[in-house]
Amino acid sequence: MTAPASVRSDVHTHIWAPSHLSGAFRVDLDRIRPGGAAIDASPEAHRASDRPERTIVVAFDGAHSGLEVPDHFVAAYVDQDRERLIGYCSVNPVARDPRDAITRAVDELGLRGVKIAPTYQAFDPLGPEAFRLYEEIAARELPVLWHQGAAFVRNSVLSFAPPRLIDDVARRFPEMKIVIAHAGSPWPEECLAVVRKHPQVFADISGIVARPSLIRSVLTSATELGCSDRLLFGTDWPFATVAEVATSLQAVADDDDLTPATRSAASSLLARDSVAALGF
Ligand SMILES: [Zn+2]
Repeated sequence: MTAPASVRSDVHTHIWAPSHLSGAFRVDLDRIRPGGAAIDASPEAHRASDRPERTIVVAFDGAHSGLEVPDHFVAAYVDQDRERLIGYCSVNPVARDPRDAITRAVDELGLRGVKIAPTYQAFDPLGPEAFRLYEEIAARELPVLWHQGAAFVRNSVLSFAPPRLIDDVARRFPEMKIVIAHAGSPWPEECLAVVRKHPQVFADISGIVARPSLIRSVLTSATELGCSDRLLFGTDWPFATVAEVATSLQAVADDDDLTPATRSAASSLLARDSVAALGF
C-alpha cells in the first residue's frame, strides 16, 4: 500500500512485540476493539504499512497498564531507516530516573523525542517527579507526544487525564513543543483551549477518525479559534492507516455542510508536513 500523495508525514505511530502486552492489557484491548490484541504491530508490519515520507515511532513505558515497549526496541527499528523514521523514548518519571532515562535515550540510542501518557503510566503530570522529567526534556529541546485524554485500560487513572493540566507545564516551559494526542479526546474543547493559548502546543487528530462527528467538531472549533494550523496528521498506527485518516479528513474537506474555512483547514492539514512543524 502507498500513502495518499498529499500525506507527507505521521507524528504518531506505535510498534510492539507480543511479549510487550500483558494479559490484562490484551483483555481490555479485545473488549474495546474485538480482535485488537491480535493486531500485528511488529516492526515488519510497520515497514510494510502505508508509510509517508517521515514517521514518528514511539516507545511506551507503561507497566502500570500492561504495555511496555522499551526504548531500545524502537531504537533498533528506526536505526534501519533514519531518513524516514524518527524514534521517541518513553519515560515514567516515577519508575525511572528522568536524567538517566533521557541521557541514555538521546546519547546512546539516538532517540529524538519523548512519549508520555500519565493516565496509562499512573503518574501525576503535575507532580514533582514529572517536573524533573520536563526539566530534562526542556534541557535537551526534545518534543513531547503527550497522551492527555481518556484511556481504555481499566487500571488507567482518569484523574490524571484532563488536557487542561498541560497548561501548567506549557507556562513553565514556553519553548517545549508538545503534541496532545487524539486532540485530547474525549475533551477536544479543553485540548483546543490549551493549543489556542500556547503557540508551542499542537494536537494530533489520530484516534478520532472512526468518529465522524468528533473529527468535524475538532476541525470546526480549531478553525473558529484560529489555531487549526497547529493540528497535526497522526494515525496512531496500528489502530488506523494513513489511508484511513486521509480519507476521513478528505470527507471533512468535501462536506458541503461545513464552512469554507473549516473545509480549507481539513485540506491544509492533509497537505501539512506535520513532522517538520516539530522542527525535524
Ligand atoms: Zn498512540
